[in-house]
Amino acid sequence: MSDGLLVHDGTVVSPRGLRRADVRCRDGTIVEIGTHLAPAGEQMLDAGDSYVLPGIVDPHVHFALEAKPHRTADDFASGSTAALAGGVTTVIDFAHQHAGEGFEEALDRRLAEAVSCRTDYSLHLIVTDISGGQMAEMSHLSERGVTSAKLYSTYRAAGFFCDDYVVLEFMRAAAELGWVVMVHCENDAIVEGTRASFVRQEKVEFRYHGASRPAVAEVETVERMLCFAGDTGAAVYPVHLSVGESARLIAAARRRGVTAFGETCPHFLVADERVYEDDARAARFIHTPPLRAEREQAILWAELGAGGLQTVGSDHCGYTLAQRTDFADIVKVAPGVPGIETLLPLLYTYGVVAERMRMEDLAAVASENAARIFGLYPRKGVVAEGSDADLVIYKPHGTRTLDDQTVRSAARYSPFAGMPVRGRVAATILRGRIAFDGTDVIVPEGTGRFVPRQPFDLARV
Ligand SMILES: [Zn+2]
Repeated sequence: MSDGLLVHDGTVVSPRGLRRADVRCRDGTIVEIGTHLAPAGEQMLDAGDSYVLPGIVDPHVHFALEAKPHRTADDFASGSTAALAGGVTTVIDFAHQHAGEGFEEALDRRLAEAVSCRTDYSLHLIVTDISGGQMAEMSHLSERGVTSAKLYSTYRAAGFFCDDYVVLEFMRAAAELGWVVMVHCENDAIVEGTRASFVRQEKVEFRYHGASRPAVAEVETVERMLCFAGDTGAAVYPVHLSVGESARLIAAARRRGVTAFGETCPHFLVADERVYEDDARAARFIHTPPLRAEREQAILWAELGAGGLQTVGSDHCGYTLAQRTDFADIVKVAPGVPGIETLLPLLYTYGVVAERMRMEDLAAVASENAARIFGLYPRKGVVAEGSDADLVIYKPHGTRTLDDQTVRSAARYSPFAGMPVRGRVAATILRGRIAFDGTDVIVPEGTGRFVPRQPFDLARV
């Protein structure tokens, strides 16, 4: 074992500014940040031409996702390999409660699957059933470091749907216990009705995916969830927002005192619905909600700085293209696309280089904000003395084109193949240990640890 790591002379990034500094890591922790730190026998890592960011915290990933008859090609081991190659050091995946199951039962089942993870990890609970008194288990989950849950406003057939009564009751308990309530926002009646009409017209090819899930379904549900959050006092977090108006509603709700946070995804920021013009390209972007009109992108980027959106999550879901084309039908297909490996390069290129955000904002939306909202801060999400030594060394020079061949995800493709990106992850450091050296992921399966989270705290966000 080495006696620590000294990251030398990089540009250390935080939402509060940039500074040229050395970062000394020992026993998994950042012990000193300063200029001209004297080496003390540590392994040296020169970051002279690079940014030193806090390790990316991806608050929304689906490794080893089972949606019968589908199962993602990525499991925790391969998904987290892709994560490390993309500078992600902490992921928050999901523990899916099956109908009739207890919350802790769901958590234990998922924790057993997550042991092969190479990044640090936590889990959000997915709530599908509170009819058996399961909410009484929430305080036990808090003690075990799980302080957030996701509820779905649609996906009735798959068993995810929660009606408004369940959402409202859950939010009341969440407000009491300091849980964050994430909501997949698509109005079920609008989505199911529209899809049924497409089926009747025999319009089931992938090119109809976007039109079959209209934007208003998202916007309406975001507004409803903000109403419930206002009534209950719960912290609400609408996930994977695709429409500018959703973000504007969140910004407005925040101004009147509602505790609300918005998340978008890289695909909504850099791609638009024109990919649905033919079935082959559409196959690469089958996710829900779908891509929208190009004009939405500018609003989403602006809201990342203006208060309507706080985080960017990958919503990584590693299905292969072959799995997709086996079910070339918008009703039968399993939605979800891989994106954890490209989140940082895309945000840097199309955000920072394109002057839509500053480097400081990138550190906020890709790391610190998620850590604060989900109770990981200051252990995660910040380059600071006493924090876990999770760092990304990002070399901002050079342009490359994303492709399908070099992705580490077992999905073996990238929806963003063909897009140029600036710079690359030169190293990813997890608790003081080089986990990705710029070429290879060099830590074994199981290197990641479960990170217990604190309850939601308004003073922290
Ligand atoms: Zn998701």
